[in-house]
Amino acid sequence: MASVYNWQLGREMTYRFDQAAPERQFVAIFNINRCIACQTCTMACKSTWTFSAGQEDMWWNNVETKPYGGYPQHWDVKTLELLERANPGGQTWGGAPAAEAPYGVYGGRTIFEAASLGQQAVGYLPSDEEWGSPNIHEDSPVAKAALSDGVSLPEHRTWFFYLQRICNHCAYPACLSACPRNAIYKRPEDGIVLIDQARCRGYRKCVEQCPYKKSMYRPDSRTSEKCIACYPRVEGSDPITEGRPMETRCMAVCPGQIRLQGLVEVAPDGTWVQAPDNPLYYLIREEPMAMPLYPQFGTSPNVYYIPPRWVPRQYLRQMFGPGVDDAVAAYERPSRRAQAVLQLFRVTQSIIFSFEVVEGPKVAEINVGGRPLEIFDDTVVGYGKDGEEVVRVNVREPQYERPAQYLNTI
Ligand code: SF4
Ligand code: SF4
Repeated sequence: MASVYNWQLGREMTYRFDQAAPERQFVAIFNINRCIACQTCTMACKSTWTFSAGQEDMWWNNVETKPYGGYPQHWDVKTLELLERANPGGQTWGGAPAAEAPYGVYGGRTIFEAASLGQQAVGYLPSDEEWGSPNIHEDSPVAKAALSDGVSLPEHRTWFFYLQRICNHCAYPACLSACPRNAIYKRPEDGIVLIDQARCRGYRKCVEQCPYKKSMYRPDSRTSEKCIACYPRVEGSDPITEGRPMETRCMAVCPGQIRLQGLVEVAPDGTWVQAPDNPLYYLIREEPMAMPLYPQFGTSPNVYYIPPRWVPRQYLRQMFGPGVDDAVAAYERPSRRAQAVLQLFRVTQSIIFSFEVVEGPKVAEINVGGRPLEIFDDTVVGYGKDGEEVVRVNVREPQYERPAQYLNTI
């Protein structure tokens, strides 16, 4: 076993392979607070990539209602339970946040470190029944969920939220380390994780050991498949992109405007190269406002979430790590710069590689949590790969008043 640095855990951890960081990494941020669960993202992915026979149960993108929903059912509770069994009470964090340990240091075992001899990681294969209901417990804050092994979740009354999920294109993918055929690889140019269909023999070790259950088995081809991050779009080789790197389909279609996706630069040791003018780097590392999903699993997932403000903190801390309190505070009272950067969600399909903020006048002062918050009509400008301007948008949304002759004509 090799040792690699996992900055989300603030420490070295064991992994099957030596450090082999990509030059750039595919990264996305989902703002949970804005999702309306319309499933447009889910259907955009389905109609693009998984519409064929044998792919009926494949939802590379899904949106589930937490705390009870999940696809496959109970995927997260079951993996948390496996970690707990391997190391009772061990999923704890300590230490103060530091530059390369922004959430402190994880003191427990990852899925790799909790594995027994002969295993790469702890995991399980979901049953057909668990794969059968992609949106079970939709919109339900009171569902009673009994796990198949007799463990049950408590009932409560007042909250739920939507969790948007795709493959995390992890820095240390468990699917990749699990594969006995070495059929899974991480691309050096963008960190996208792919399965070589010619090498795959359908052993399903990736399905078993991905803690997010985002590698899926296709029975008619007897191979596993997973989200490919719409790589022709990210490469700029899709004909509609005119050579410019574009965001994935699930990002581009989102009517809730909750998604932003791009690329960050990675250093050879796996840490991120400082880039405070990259909008993803800014929201994840500078503010920080967006958090990784279950960082304790140890795969270093690259989809980050702006956590929901209304959910009990204990639940959020388990799901997003100890940085979640600061993240919620940063979103509730966004800094002047963050107010501008948040406008970049879903205003262009082009990947924004950098941004600048042009200051404008103060336009409002609102009360947040008993304290005043100033709002400025700043302009945020997004730049593409070659430094060309791809978008320009203001903090204050423009209002249009239709002339009276057009009222009630539709
Ligand atoms: S398209 Fe956007 S708003 Fe609709 S479910 Fe997906 S993430 Fe949520
Ligand atoms: S989320 Fe799962 S399938 Fe995707 S890269 Fe990570 S371990 Fe692999």
